[in-house]
Amino acid sequence: MTDARSVRDNTPMIDRIHTSEVDPDADEVAVAGHVHEVRDLGGLVFLIVRDREGLIQVVFKEEREPELFAAVEDVNSEDVVRVVGDPVESDQAPGGVEIAPTAYEVIDEADSPLPLEISKDVDVDLSTRLDNRALDLRKPETLAVFSLRSTLMTAMEDWFDTEGFVDIKTPLISKGGAEGGAELFPILYYDRDAFLSQSPQLYKQILMAAGYEAVYETGTAFRAEDFATSRHVSEIAMFDVELAYIDDHHDVMDVQEESLRYALRAVAEEAERELELLDVDLAVPEDDFPRITFDEALDLLETEFGHFPDDPTDLDTKGEKLLGDHFEAQGHPAFFVVGYPDEKFYYMQDVEGDDIASRKFDLIYRGQELSSGGQRQHHVDRMVEVMEEEGVEQANFEFYIEALSFGTPPHGGYGLGIDRLVQQVAGLDNIKEAIMFPRDPNRLEP
Ligand code: ATP
Ligand code: MG
Repeated sequence: MTDARSVRDNTPMIDRIHTSEVDPDADEVAVAGHVHEVRDLGGLVFLIVRDREGLIQVVFKEEREPELFAAVEDVNSEDVVRVVGDPVESDQAPGGVEIAPTAYEVIDEADSPLPLEISKDVDVDLSTRLDNRALDLRKPETLAVFSLRSTLMTAMEDWFDTEGFVDIKTPLISKGGAEGGAELFPILYYDRDAFLSQSPQLYKQILMAAGYEAVYETGTAFRAEDFATSRHVSEIAMFDVELAYIDDHHDVMDVQEESLRYALRAVAEEAERELELLDVDLAVPEDDFPRITFDEALDLLETEFGHFPDDPTDLDTKGEKLLGDHFEAQGHPAFFVVGYPDEKFYYMQDVEGDDIASRKFDLIYRGQELSSGGQRQHHVDRMVEVMEEEGVEQANFEFYIEALSFGTPPHGGYGLGIDRLVQQVAGLDNIKEAIMFPRDPNRLEP
């Protein structure tokens, strides 16, 4: 490939180049795309053609090309067209170049009127946009979100591939969940009850016990809570990581910090056009991410902001936002909160000389939790004790307890919400804007 963004150059597809590649010095070019906008000035038609990489203006003049002009007068917004012509420099045209056509063909006609405007910057509410997602996805700003997302996740996977992590795939259908039943979607599995997976964590840990040492998964998780927030959905894209032979949870945070920095740098360098379209000034966190304990976080909230989270074992949305602003003002868009007081059987606890309650951490980026992780409990005896204290139904975890009982190295990992990461990087108000076809308690279509 000559250009990272070319689509199958040198293959026998329809002959065309991208609008972004039109060179004013070329003799003749062919472009193809949707009709973004038509402006008919009588004797003169401006046709704006849109492809994945941008827009180009084609100017039809009645006296110069009467036949083409007659044909273009019937064009509708969103028709798919192909135009051949001479590129000409033009100050008024988007991108500084326009095309004087020598051939014009309608490849497919669009019905009209359109249920959603593509080219005009009219304010439409999110639910209307999502109801008409097939058309909304055509907007350059929407496409920019998913192009940026692709750049981000390609770079993320690239970092883990280079570092020797194994790319894994864990099941989405299981007998039980990592924790309770309330957050799980039940399904009928042949003649039995089963559930959609809410996290690959147990499987990642089994792979650590099995000696895979370092793994990552770009996967899917399902959460059945009845939420109505701008940061929760029912079907989540998750990036999961697990690694073994760690000293403690700081080794896991190091991995998360370095990989996130790498992926954000890639976006800053390779997705300039998208960032500009989305009006985002992306700051890559080059400095070490601050790591504060949960107790320090509570202290800060109390002394700086007079804020007391309702749940004394977790930060609330407002607390995350306040701390996010506090650290962002000091040049740190990302920071870790380490050591949460509530016991969970799968987190490492009560380590001698440890001044924190557990080895769990959360990453907060631009005022929102992006991931939870920590060092896991690899001593099965201790884990079973905590399960008993917590009243966890051990029968649901037998396969996991057994797998870990045959010799397991110290290990830890995290689950990162990809949709939330994209939301924060692209500066979107609602997580659903970061998902092509989002699922929430009320939305199952399109
Ligand atoms: P929150 O407290 O924000 O609801 P959580 O602590 O319940 O999240 P985890 O179980 O820690 O979520 O999941 C790991 C990550 O997955 C979260 O940090 C978040 O980025 C993402 N995530 C979890 N639940 C959702 C959801 N319903 N919608 C979108 N992303 C989610
Ligand atoms: Mg969490």
